[in-house]
Amino acid sequence: MAQERADRERTIRNLRIAGPTPLPPAVLAAMQRPMVPHRGVWFRGFVKALLGRLRVLHRTDGEVFVLPGTGSAGWEIAIVNLLVPGDRILLLVNGDFGERWWRVAERYGVELIVRQIPYGRAFRAEQVARWLEECRGVRAVFIVYNETSTGVTNPLPEISAVVRSAGALLAVDGVSAVGGLPLEMDAWGIDLIFSGSQKAWMCPPGLVIVGVGPRAWEAVERAGFPRAFWDLREYRTAARSGDLPSTAPISLLYALDAAVGLIEAERLENVWRRHQELAAWFRMAAQELGLRCFAEPGYESATVTALEPPPGIGADELVTRLEEQHGIAVNGGQGRLKGKIIRVGHMGWVQRSDLEEVVQALARELQASVSWRCL
Ligand code: PLP
Repeated sequence: MAQERADRERTIRNLRIAGPTPLPPAVLAAMQRPMVPHRGVWFRGFVKALLGRLRVLHRTDGEVFVLPGTGSAGWEIAIVNLLVPGDRILLLVNGDFGERWWRVAERYGVELIVRQIPYGRAFRAEQVARWLEECRGVRAVFIVYNETSTGVTNPLPEISAVVRSAGALLAVDGVSAVGGLPLEMDAWGIDLIFSGSQKAWMCPPGLVIVGVGPRAWEAVERAGFPRAFWDLREYRTAARSGDLPSTAPISLLYALDAAVGLIEAERLENVWRRHQELAAWFRMAAQELGLRCFAEPGYESATVTALEPPPGIGADELVTRLEEQHGIAVNGGQGRLKGKIIRVGHMGWVQRSDLEEVVQALARELQASVSWRCL
C-alpha cells in the first residue's frame, strides 16, 4: 500500500499543489551548470546582476537579498531584524500561515496583538486602521499577503497605506505571492517582504528572497534580538561585492536566474495578468461543477484556489482520487481546514491546459462519486 502510494507520487503528471511548483525546462537546464568558485570574480558579477534584476521585479530601489532557507525563515528574519524585545506588533491572522507566524513570534517574546478573522475572509484597511488607532504604540504590522491555506489575498495596497500613515512598519509574508501577484514594494510602502523560491518563482525549494526598504534599515540598526545567520546587515555588506555571507547555493541561484529571465521575457505585468486570468477561469469552471470557492468573493487568490466539495463528498478522498485516477496532485486543507477543502495551485509555470485537465478530472470524479462513496 505504502509502496503503491510512493510509486504514484513519483509519477505525478500534473503537479498542482501550492508549491513546490513545476520547473520550466530552462530552470531545470540551468541547474546542470557546473560549480564555479563562489567568491570568484565571475560569480560575484552574476550575483550582483541577479540581485539588481530582483529589485526590478520587486519594484523597489531598496535592496533584495537571496538567502539559503525557505519561506518559514522569513518569519524569523522579520522578527530578529526589525524588533527589540518588548516591541508591540499587530499580527493579522486569517489562515494557517498567519497562525504559524504567530507561534514563531510568541517564542521570541515580542508583545503581540493578534487580530484574527474567520478563515476565508480578507482583512480590510478600515479594520486595520481602527486596530492601530485602538492599540497605540504598535511598532510593526505583520501580515500574510496571500494566505496559501485559504486561497485568500489580502488587499495589500490599501492595508499598506493605513499602516504607513499610522507610522508603523509593515512586514509581509509574500511566500506564495511574489512573482505571481502584483507587488509595488516602494509605491505601496512595504518595509520588508519575503518569498520562497518554490512558489511563483518556479524554482526548487531552498531560497528565501527578502526585499528590504529604507525604513526597515533604520529598524535593522536598532533591532535588539541576537541574530547571526539571519542578520540582514551581513547580507547587505556581502551583496555590495556580489557575495553571500556563507557559501552560495550556486545551483539554486542559477535556477533563479533562469526563472527571472522567463519572467522578464514574458514581462512582469503579463505574468500577473496570466495568473489573474487563469485563476478566474478555473474558479468559474470549478463552481460550475458544484464546488464552492472558499475565499470570499473579490479576494480570491490568483495563485491558489481553495474549493469546498459538494455536500457528501470528502475533500481528502477527492485529493486521493485525483492523484490515483488522474496523476494530478493537489493539496487538501491544512490545520483546522483539514478534510474540508481542496487547494489547487496555479502559480509560476502554469498554462490553461494544466487547469483544464484538473477541471476534467474533477468533473469525472464528481460524476463517479456516487459509486466511490458507496465503496
Ligand atoms: N508562508 C506562506 C504563505 C506559505 O504558503 C508557506 C509555505 O507554503 C510558508 C510561509 C512556509 O514556507 P516554507 O514551507 O517554504 O518554509
